[in-house]
Amino acid sequence: MDEKMIVACPSCHKKNRIASDKKDSAAICGHCKAALFSGEVVAVNSDQFRAHQSADLPLVVDFWASWCGPCQQYGPHFEQAAKQMPFAARFLKISTETEPHLAQQYAVRSIPTTLLIKNGQEVARQAGVMSAAQLKQWII
Ligand SMILES: [Zn+2]
Repeated sequence: MDEKMIVACPSCHKKNRIASDKKDSAAICGHCKAALFSGEVVAVNSDQFRAHQSADLPLVVDFWASWCGPCQQYGPHFEQAAKQMPFAARFLKISTETEPHLAQQYAVRSIPTTLLIKNGQEVARQAGVMSAAQLKQWII
């Protein structure tokens, strides 16, 4: 089998075409050489978001704001889940302060709100803080 998938780089946000069986921690970006599956949460603006949205990894998106207490609480749980499942999904963070139109587009009414996006489409959303374990269960 020679199945390919498109992965947007977490560092330069350019798209990489890789064989599905090369989805491992050694995979690096052909443009900037960053690790493609770093397990880090990636803060994105709308252009960068669209690059990831049109790639093949499911997205877990945290809509947050710097002034929001529960968002600060949620951050470490979100990061922990990202570290634990680097190949299952891309974990993105979107600031509702700098990207208000994205929050509006997705009708985010309270923060933190977490969206699960597959094949470019929202398939689930959850408002409020989740533990890393709850988040993982929710994603799977
Ligand atoms: Zn790159």
